[in-house]
Amino acid sequence: MEKINRNDLSDNIVNQIDTIEQKSNKKVEVYSEFEEHDTLTLDQATHVTGDEVIKVQITNEKYADFVLLHELYHIELEISDEPSINVSVTSGQTDVDGRILSTANAIFEALEHAKIVEKQVADGSLTDEVHEA
Ligand SMILES: [Zn+2]
Repeated sequence: MEKINRNDLSDNIVNQIDTIEQKSNKKVEVYSEFEEHDTLTLDQATHVTGDEVIKVQITNEKYADFVLLHELYHIELEISDEPSINVSVTSGQTDVDGRILSTANAIFEALEHAKIVEKQVADGSLTDEVHEA
């Protein structure tokens, strides 16, 4: 795992990191652990939020900007005041509850991604090349 220097990141990524650091009062650190990927998926960046530092790790080198920015938007949504979905539905049957919860999570993920994709079209990081990857 290698730490990526802020100077090596593109402007809109640095801006997004600044926004997160201001809102969260935490430092954002970016690490790379590049692996071979045949396809681009959205789990090629992950983050762990600690008490003082938010560590972001990316594994896709070719689309590093895209996956990193994507993850940073997730973090921004996570620390923003937007309402989170609280699933308090219970059916009395554990397996049904599990399905309700995973459906709710899937909907939430889809909504969150719709929002993020919108941002990535606006900032230009969702290029045609990324779209086709
Ligand atoms: Zn995502």
